[in-house]
Amino acid sequence: MTQNSGRRRYLYLAASFVFRIAVVAILLGGGGWALLAHPKTPVPSHWNPLRDLSVKAPVTPVTKYQLNRALADEMQCRSALSDAGARFEAMDDLVVDQNCGITVRGLLSQLVTSRIDAVETSCKTTLRLAMWEHHVVQPAARDFLGTGVEKLRHAGSYNCRRMRTAQGQSSRWSSHATADSIDIVGVELADGRALSLLSDWSSAGPEAAFLRQIGQGACDWFRVVLGPEYNRLHADHFHLQGPGWGFCR
Ligand SMILES: [Zn+2]
Repeated sequence: MTQNSGRRRYLYLAASFVFRIAVVAILLGGGGWALLAHPKTPVPSHWNPLRDLSVKAPVTPVTKYQLNRALADEMQCRSALSDAGARFEAMDDLVVDQNCGITVRGLLSQLVTSRIDAVETSCKTTLRLAMWEHHVVQPAARDFLGTGVEKLRHAGSYNCRRMRTAQGQSSRWSSHATADSIDIVGVELADGRALSLLSDWSSAGPEAAFLRQIGQGACDWFRVVLGPEYNRLHADHFHLQGPGWGFCR
């Protein structure tokens, strides 16, 4: 166990203790609600379901609940991103037709720590991506590669098209048609190296372990994640998709 993960484990245990106290307080009734709602509540925000999501706060069992609230609320989504230092310049919704368009649209160019080439996408996709970058990609880069990720390389988010399958084009519309997904092809590291799924996925070194870790970890923040193990269409990218039924390959 590394020192970092030992510390994380300790923080997790300490925080879960506080959380249990909060749950007991809730079960006790109105007093518990008052405890959580009080402006000077001793319950930390990331353990408090009444508080808004903070992207950079440690992940707790309350985080998913806070995230879902932020995904459903334009103001919360945009402010969670700006509080985290992300750059997601607001744009008017893109209205094309019933199948294509972007609601709560913006131009994304910076996540929490890493940059990304400017891409038009939705606030939901951006918020999920920011959670992934901060809680999965950067820790994995430190653990496996001893450095940070400076840039995520993408291959687009919005694309008004139908789904592509290994058997050809499907009649169903792609989640890209509503910018509910983004394709990530690799990363640039702070030490100057560039990794891509195409050339590093099957390598023997820690680079492949890093890529597998961030692919797996993406399933914590996106409901559908497809990568090189899924089919040849995904040999060179992770397809990260917000809505769906929980499919992680
Ligand atoms: Zn895709």
